[in-house]
Amino acid sequence: MSDTLVYRIGGAIYINLTNKCTNNCTFCLREKHDGVNGYHLRLSKDPEARDVIAALEKESDVSESVFCGLGEPTMRLETLLEVAAYLKARGSHVRLNTNGQGSAYAGRDIAPALKGLVDTVSVSLNASDAAKYDTVCQSIYGKEGYRHMLDFARSCIAQGIETVLSVVDVIGPDEIAKCRKIADDMGARLRVRHYIE
Ligand code: SF4
Repeated sequence: MSDTLVYRIGGAIYINLTNKCTNNCTFCLREKHDGVNGYHLRLSKDPEARDVIAALEKESDVSESVFCGLGEPTMRLETLLEVAAYLKARGSHVRLNTNGQGSAYAGRDIAPALKGLVDTVSVSLNASDAAKYDTVCQSIYGKEGYRHMLDFARSCIAQGIETVLSVVDVIGPDEIAKCRKIADDMGARLRVRHYIE
């Protein structure tokens, strides 16, 4: 079976760049599932940009595209940028779903590189403080992972990239209110997602 590099949910085309991640979230779909919406998203190897672009060439509608698979897309930054450039050339609105630790992983601020290629960044905020975040997300950066994530979101905003912070509804109303204040103070929008079992 060939790897699923692109898949469709609703009207959008999704791009699956890696199964690696700097987090190990307790709620991650990777723990119990091989994919989403009936798509098998386990990769035998990380794809090259040309492989992803070849898969996208077969898609007639790429007006909405999302970098989101069973892993963290920014760990494949160069591939992501090359594919995003291809998508922008086709007039796509490009969204990146990320844990926000891409700059820490790259060892430099990656938001300037995303500017002009990624229209919207959706960053998983997940919690209102570093301790809670670390309990849930178990980043390789420990409690610093939370700061890295917030710094990345702020940097995206500074670059003029539409930035959304996301939480899942299971954290409860008090925690959601605290997360909303973090988003408001930063100038980001908060998105409360329904938790998928
Ligand atoms: S950040 Fe996403 S891909 Fe990574 S472990 Fe958490 S839920 Fe899974």
